[in-house]
Amino acid sequence: MSLANGRPYLAIPGPSVMPDRVLAAMHRPAPNIYEGPLHDMVATITRDLRWVAGTSQNVAIYIVNGHGAWEAANANLFSRGDKALVLATGRFGIGWSESARRMGVEVEVLDFGNHSPVDMDRLAAALAADKAHKIKAVLVTQVDTATSVKNDIAGLRAVMDAAGHPALLAVDAIASMGCDAFHMDEWGVDLVVAASQKGLMTPPGLGFVWFSDRAKERCRGGDLATPYWDWTPRAAPDEFWQYFCGTAPTHHLFGLHEALTMVREEGLDAVWARHARLARAVWAAFDAWGQGNADIALNIADPAYRGHSVTAARLGAPHATALRRWTEAEAGVTLGIGLGMAAPSDPAYHGFLRVAHMGHVNAHMTLGVLAVMEAGMRALGIPHGPGALVAAAEVVAGR
Ligand SMILES: *Cc1c(COP(=O)(O)O)cnc(C)c1O
Repeated sequence: MSLANGRPYLAIPGPSVMPDRVLAAMHRPAPNIYEGPLHDMVATITRDLRWVAGTSQNVAIYIVNGHGAWEAANANLFSRGDKALVLATGRFGIGWSESARRMGVEVEVLDFGNHSPVDMDRLAAALAADKAHKIKAVLVTQVDTATSVKNDIAGLRAVMDAAGHPALLAVDAIASMGCDAFHMDEWGVDLVVAASQKGLMTPPGLGFVWFSDRAKERCRGGDLATPYWDWTPRAAPDEFWQYFCGTAPTHHLFGLHEALTMVREEGLDAVWARHARLARAVWAAFDAWGQGNADIALNIADPAYRGHSVTAARLGAPHATALRRWTEAEAGVTLGIGLGMAAPSDPAYHGFLRVAHMGHVNAHMTLGVLAVMEAGMRALGIPHGPGALVAAAEVVAGR
């Protein structure tokens, strides 16, 4: 007998849970793409996307996943031979650097490993060493989904300003947009990338690039921006078709419009506060499981540097993989694999997992995931400390 039948829960860090309202909004006939309501709806979507990112500047929408959004960003930011400084705090920072390098950008990577945020002193030193100001842009991930580290974006900008370095600041907020607070203009960010399938609760397929007026000026005439990737017409179209350089992604737009309406109804501050509280409940459970058991630990020691949308943790090999298989088969909960911590062929790989609490997630879902994990540890005989569910419930109770 399995207890998995019932509504399954995909608790991986993207794609995230799609609200029924989003799915229902997509279930309709194809609209006229030449005139009518679709055109009005896209105007409200671009307005709401600016609001979610905290900017009054520019936004371009692409029919891509996150990897495509990286390339869209690179194609507009850089010309061949330009230099990027990449601040890597996990697999996704490395991924963006690989994309830029393959496109002909000269890439310098500062790698801060899998357990730490960006070290501001190392950033300051790298900027100071670039006396000729060859670095055109600094690329960083706000929340790296592999490590669940969160970087201090305003702090990065302060270091760049203090160094008197003119580089643009470009941020991957794919895992964090609509989950962790983001204030593009206030923080002095020049470019942000995000995608539809994480905090924005819409199926995979839309990527977003927000960019500052300064970035627009500085990057004009770059030689990587072919017609499809060029952000200029997408952000300021003369004709509707230029928003998407061709046919609009009609049904994704209906879904995204509904998702953004839900964020508006809840309020951004409330959305961020919900993610913060659910994250703390997950951390409290892991802290309890790890009591007297050194194998179990959160990946990021300092809570100030943990993202609010995903938690990466160690459970000891082979327990993490065994637990993931158990929760999926026996309880209908799919947990995230450990990513970038060890190669899949390395036995250590089976010691890591991730729990997502991203987007359309509430207290019963997160408490349910934790309770199922507790049950799985008991069923499998995985050693763990007591009191995890009480600790998580205390956080949810607001105590
Ligand atoms: C998910 C994610 C990506 C990649 O997105 P895909 O849609 O899988 O291509 C990149 N960066 C971060 C931080 C992510 O969370």
